[in-house]
Amino acid sequence: MAAKRDYYELLGVDRSATAEELKKAYRKLAMKYHPDRNQGDKQAEDMFKDVSEAYEVLSDPQKRRQYDQYGHEGLKSQFGPGGFDFGRDFTHNADLQDILGSIFGGGGGLFDGLFGGGGGGRRSGGRPGGPQPGADLRFDIEIDFEEAAYGSERQITLPISVQCDTCHGSGDKPGTSKESCRHCSGRGFVVSGNGFFQVRQGCPVCGGTGMMSKNPCRDCDGSGRVKKQKRVTLKIPNGVDTGSRLRMTGKGEGGIKGGPAGDLYVVLHVKNHPLYERREDDLFCQFPVPADVLMLGGSVQVPTLDGFARLKIDAGTEAGKAYRLRGKGMPRVDGFGRGDLHVHIIPEIPRKLNAKQKKLITEFQSFMDQKQYPLTNRVQEEAEKMYAKKDQVKS
Ligand SMILES: [Zn+2]
Ligand SMILES: [Zn+2]
Repeated sequence: MAAKRDYYELLGVDRSATAEELKKAYRKLAMKYHPDRNQGDKQAEDMFKDVSEAYEVLSDPQKRRQYDQYGHEGLKSQFGPGGFDFGRDFTHNADLQDILGSIFGGGGGLFDGLFGGGGGGRRSGGRPGGPQPGADLRFDIEIDFEEAAYGSERQITLPISVQCDTCHGSGDKPGTSKESCRHCSGRGFVVSGNGFFQVRQGCPVCGGTGMMSKNPCRDCDGSGRVKKQKRVTLKIPNGVDTGSRLRMTGKGEGGIKGGPAGDLYVVLHVKNHPLYERREDDLFCQFPVPADVLMLGGSVQVPTLDGFARLKIDAGTEAGKAYRLRGKGMPRVDGFGRGDLHVHIIPEIPRKLNAKQKKLITEFQSFMDQKQYPLTNRVQEEAEKMYAKKDQVKS
């Protein structure tokens, strides 16, 4: 095995980096190497695991101290003989979930989480050892504005736990059976504390089933499920917005022993678009019009979702004038109609005038009458009134 790289070096930060700096560095790298963006790229996948591991350690003050003092050796005891337990340790790190959550979701793309924290309740309903439904999963993905506007179909690959084929979800090596859990004496729970306060918790060893494998299945480490890269076709209807959820029944975590699979929820985050700002189903657009067109009038081509639309500009149109193009906004996600497009005019002043142009504008200036600039005149008047009053109130 190759020597492990220094965690600080992996994240590209100083040894004195603050928690915030670590988070920032990790976020950047996680986005770059995330498997969803590097499909089939083993190197990127390894890099993603490495930087995630580095962040997992350095974001935990205690682990960071140990690492600072003893290096990678100092962490061995934490992760057991196999070294870092990728996947299992991650789900404990709320901060990491939070980071990946904001990029890719609560599940983090690689790490499934119970949807809304409530999905776990379904699982506990199963009889210990009997069929249990799989958990609901939540993944967040970022989509382009165009996908939200026009709808899209995209393939995503998600690491989803499915029933292990070798042991059919029992967690036992084929041909062997379970025995009563020694940790909880088969009760499925443990009681801690003493005297008045007693806390009853699900047994961490057998997961509350009261049973444990005599010989755990090697392919799934006795968990009964394995992670598989599952390709899922996402149908994104037009009109979706940030926060829209797509529910895919039965596409979540696989059930145990024939239990039904959970559901998959995909939460969408729509990227901003340089042309439009969206508010509900209305779109707002700051639209530049050449100053001469505003003065003389004319027609311009405004970009709408359906292509350019002609907009007639009256002579003497002022900056900030708003036009409302009905039904040219975002489609409503329920399929009924569309929002409006609001076009706000901003004058564009021509850049880099040449000598001839300057000469003509100068000539134009000489023909202008001050009365043609009412706003300028108004400011002048108000200012003069203010100075007059100043002298009045001071005397
Ligand atoms: Zn198995
Ligand atoms: Zn137990």
